[in-house]
Amino acid sequence: MGSNETILCGNILMKTDLHKKYMLMAIAMAKKGIQKGQTPFGACIVKDGKVLSCVHNVVWKTTDITAHAEIHAIRKACSKAKSIDLSGAVIYSTCEPCPMCFSACHWARISKVIYGANILDAQRVGFNELTVSNHKLKKIGQSPIEIIDGFLKEENIKLFQFWSNRKDKRVY
Ligand SMILES: [Zn+2]
Repeated sequence: MGSNETILCGNILMKTDLHKKYMLMAIAMAKKGIQKGQTPFGACIVKDGKVLSCVHNVVWKTTDITAHAEIHAIRKACSKAKSIDLSGAVIYSTCEPCPMCFSACHWARISKVIYGANILDAQRVGFNELTVSNHKLKKIGQSPIEIIDGFLKEENIKLFQFWSNRKDKRVY
């Protein structure tokens, strides 16, 4: 994707540069999480040009196995929007949402999922992933969510390397 290309987000055409900005925010949050002993995942939800939430995974911090970055981001975004309907929103996720998180995106009516690394990359570093891709879930579940995969993939894969080098890393 070139920097001048546009991606349709809800009803808004957004320049790729803007998508990069939001993905880089998700990456920065994931790094923050890693530094605090959390796992290498971040997510940012944007609607109508506003960041509704930008968080990292807090599974270890909260001892909540459902506190993946995307679920955490959806909870915060819904709370901020005072709505359970995030139609038109885009979620930027450093890694492909797992089936639980993809389902939550569907339930929240998020319009587009943009992710970097994929489920197999997460499985490769030790996470106990259900290896069902978002593309497959969308197809078999007939979800209207649009999916853009492999966005800033190299930068996102680096999060796994950064995390792997730490002594306090823990998988689940
Ligand atoms: Zn998940």
